[in-house]
Amino acid sequence: MQDLKLLAQDNRGLYQLEAGEDLLGWHEVTQGSILPSFEGDATGIANMKQEERNYSHYNSYTATVASWRVLKPVYNRDICIDCQNCWVWCPDTSIISRDKQMLGIDYDHCKGCGVCVEVCPTNPKSLLMFGEHSSFEDALSQWPEKKKKEKK
Ligand code: SF4
Ligand code: SF4
Repeated sequence: MQDLKLLAQDNRGLYQLEAGEDLLGWHEVTQGSILPSFEGDATGIANMKQEERNYSHYNSYTATVASWRVLKPVYNRDICIDCQNCWVWCPDTSIISRDKQMLGIDYDHCKGCGVCVEVCPTNPKSLLMFGEHSSFEDALSQWPEKKKKEKK
């Protein structure tokens, strides 16, 4: 069974965006204000993995938008060929890949758009959309069989 909580971090997706009652809206911020993306010294941050960086509360990495989703993509490791298509096309950088190996979905930031499913080339697809509250076990047990080519 694949580990669906890969790379889960304490500093990832801590805050619901709508929960920021005391936060200023983008149109209320004084011109010239600086909102640092990282806590402390950010020297060499470009060479660090996401989960090793000390993101500040101003960075979207620490806010979750998971509640926006109605459908979620479920990943089936058994079929995936690590082509990286989903990683390239995801508009929210929510595909987790390391060293060209697909590891799973960042469910704190995935908005459920389904683009990753559309671009997955395997037969059957290695990513499929399921209801947000479906269990991963149920989703994987309903995975379709390989489609046979139709004879012309
Ligand atoms: S459903 Fe959309 S946001 Fe979520 S991982 Fe797929 S492409 Fe990215
Ligand atoms: S597009 Fe499909 S086959 Fe390619 S890496 Fe993503 S899940 Fe795997």
